[in-house]
Amino acid sequence: RFRMTLQSNSVSVTATVSPLLTKLKRDCATPLPVLEEVADAMSAQMRSGLALDAPTQLPMIPTYVQNLPTGNEKGLFYALDLGGTNFRVLRVQLGGKEERVIATEFEQGPIPQHLMFGTTEELFDFIASGLAKFAEKESDKFHLPPGRTREIGFTFSFPVKQTSIDSGTLIKWTKGFAISGTEGRDVVACLNEALKRQGLNMRVSALVNDTVGTLAGAEYWDNDVMVAVILGTGTNACYVEQINAIPKLQGHVFPSGRMIISTEWGAFSTSLPLTEFDEEMDAASINPGEQIFEKTISGMYLGEIVRRALLKMAQVGGLFGKSVPQKLTMPFTLRTPDLCAMQQDNSVDLQAVGSILYDRTGVESNLSARKIVLEVCDTVIKRGGRLAGAGIVGILQKMEEDSKGIIFGKRTVVAVDGGLYENYPHYRAYLQDSVTELLGLEKSNNVVIQHSKDGSGIGAALLAASNSMYKHQF
Ligand code: BGC
Ligand code: MG
Repeated sequence: RFRMTLQSNSVSVTATVSPLLTKLKRDCATPLPVLEEVADAMSAQMRSGLALDAPTQLPMIPTYVQNLPTGNEKGLFYALDLGGTNFRVLRVQLGGKEERVIATEFEQGPIPQHLMFGTTEELFDFIASGLAKFAEKESDKFHLPPGRTREIGFTFSFPVKQTSIDSGTLIKWTKGFAISGTEGRDVVACLNEALKRQGLNMRVSALVNDTVGTLAGAEYWDNDVMVAVILGTGTNACYVEQINAIPKLQGHVFPSGRMIISTEWGAFSTSLPLTEFDEEMDAASINPGEQIFEKTISGMYLGEIVRRALLKMAQVGGLFGKSVPQKLTMPFTLRTPDLCAMQQDNSVDLQAVGSILYDRTGVESNLSARKIVLEVCDTVIKRGGRLAGAGIVGILQKMEEDSKGIIFGKRTVVAVDGGLYENYPHYRAYLQDSVTELLGLEKSNNVVIQHSKDGSGIGAALLAASNSMYKHQF
């Protein structure tokens, strides 16, 4: 009798949950026409973001980076990288065309949670003191001519309105940061003040977004790199634009030539296939209505979307039995790396899926429930990867429309970095599928989507070198 009940129980679970799963899959579906619409909308939004009176869904930020590294950069430079999750400090000894990167050293660690909700000064003091400790231990592989100030490339992975290559004001925080009073302030000035409080004689020579650092770092080794994308805690993309295609820069004193544009595509929101769970998560977030593309495709949010879908299935469909575990009702108990670990479980009884669910949410699951959980993960990851691919194609398409052959007529490299892309093979594969589907075989053969690991640190140091106050004294 007991056995009978158990069995019929698990059968009925699937029966009550499967309509919910079907709906989720329908809401998340990204068939080719949807991808095309997203790619086209991305190209169109890019254009309006570059226009003179940009109404701007996409900020399309001029970065003031006009010259990519040449290979001739020489000397000792530092880089500071404040990302969404980690903080990194790095030094590099550049040796010019022949020797390239002679030596590098770096240290990194997590950004303490409380600093994300603290004051501007606390955050910048943390960065500056990390740098101070690191700078003390400079080994003899590194050297600077006497009397020179150490120069820094500062990678700041948030939307900044650049006012020059080495200054810019924070537009808004993203990725769960909620420090009041930083918006509208020059983040380089904030850092300089903190450096002074540490008694450090160092100077920021370049302020760069992480995508821009990645583009510079990747282009240093490969001239075909035209686009860089970050898919990590948050997301963004930058690319090389022609200055005469940037109407909003008219009246500035720029000569013709090129400039890197940081799209801040996380703010994109047109034509996206969204679910009730996306809407609820957005409403509960600290930036409701903002960063919708980011909330659909990046690492901070994918686990949370899955948690919300599973919670509904538990509440309405009895996915995990009669009661709903308390922990499953708590935001962010399921993280994107958990989804990845579950999707890598190839065992017959999905043992790892069961134990991850149990560890994170306290849920006891039978095999049929575990299978459903995996389908939910796959649905959300697939949508994310495919939409990211569509975004990339939107950028390539825009560049190609402006000058035929520049992208698809030759080899073009898209440099991608970020923990989500790096560590989640399923996501990576979905992204590539989507690019191939959208471009067709012939064009996509010319487009190389390439992981560029930790390029943004070296990239920022290279840009500091290009903008060094001593650059005429090499
Ligand atoms: C920020 C971007 C950044 C991206 C990746 C987004 O939340 O707005 O500036 O490049 O995350 O780190
Ligand atoms: Mg980063």
